[in-house]
Amino acid sequence: MGVLAQYAQHLALGDNTPRITLGEGATPLVPAPRIGSPLGIELYLKFEGQNPTGSFKDRGMVMAVAKAIEQRSQTIICASTGNTSAAAAAYAAATGLRAVVVIPAGRIALGKLAQAIMYGADIVAIEGNFDAALTIVRGLAAGGEYTLVNSINPWRIEGQKTAAFEVVDVLGDAPDILAIPVGNAGNITAYAKGFREYRALGRSSKSPLLFGFQAAGSAPFVQGGPIDNPETVATAIRIGNPANWQLAHRAVAEFGGGFFAVPDEEILQAQRRIAREVGLFPEPASAAPVAGLVRLHREGGLPRGAVVVAVLTGNGLKDPDVASRSAEGAIVPVPADADAVRRAISG
Ligand SMILES: *Cc1c(COP(=O)(O)O)cnc(C)c1O
Repeated sequence: MGVLAQYAQHLALGDNTPRITLGEGATPLVPAPRIGSPLGIELYLKFEGQNPTGSFKDRGMVMAVAKAIEQRSQTIICASTGNTSAAAAAYAAATGLRAVVVIPAGRIALGKLAQAIMYGADIVAIEGNFDAALTIVRGLAAGGEYTLVNSINPWRIEGQKTAAFEVVDVLGDAPDILAIPVGNAGNITAYAKGFREYRALGRSSKSPLLFGFQAAGSAPFVQGGPIDNPETVATAIRIGNPANWQLAHRAVAEFGGGFFAVPDEEILQAQRRIAREVGLFPEPASAAPVAGLVRLHREGGLPRGAVVVAVLTGNGLKDPDVASRSAEGAIVPVPADADAVRRAISG
């Protein structure tokens, strides 16, 4: 059905807003007792990797592209660590717009680059990081010729808030805690907006604490200011100068919660656990909240019995390099007979 149709009365849709969709939204909220029980919490994973381009970016992009069309724009532009470009390229393809994506050269997960190429975006790789790419596209969009579809475009936040609606619709109330990875901090801002609006309508009885998780080498919210050379295996949150700095701070101040850092090894460990103990395959950035919950529990910072929703923002298939690098040993071929295979699997 898509989020524009599903949540039409909660979105600013006019008669001239096209009701486009690639089938985004309605993603599963999967119970994860094998991870949650040892932490003393009731844990659910919101698997945003099931969206059409494999990340939550589709929810915001469908709205931003619908509004761009309403405003008669012909070209959308974005900076991207990968998933925004995949979503922009797909929704542009679906509607006949041109998509221009500016990416940090050599810093994009293979699957995400493949998506932008296949969907037919005009791709420019710069010799610089995401933050530099965002500065460039902001400048280009200021001329009025291109519509910027990064999360500073308020329609992105508007579309993304539908994920919070879905959580409440499925659980019957808001959770006690929302655990979410933070890069540019558009998504944490969007969830706050969704929870706030649903509560005002009486759809939920409470607001969740917002726990935002960053990679230790790329944690401007934890360090208290922008950082120059962010580094992490979780490329989707390798962002040193977050675009939604103030909105995210305001949301966390309003809801309670905080920002926390997790080291890359713990992110990769959590990614493997989610795959092996839940049966979902998130990309590295998406494992940061689960890694962070494990760390908070170890430090005594998780309330017992809390209902916790962790957002798995993107699909692990997008980043096959990281996944295969974290394999524990090489897979060595054996002769093609049953005895050899039996020997290989015994003991
Ligand atoms: C974009 C993205 C994030 C970060 O979201 P922000 O809104 O920039 O904070 C996290 N995980 C994945 C998979 C993403 O694509």
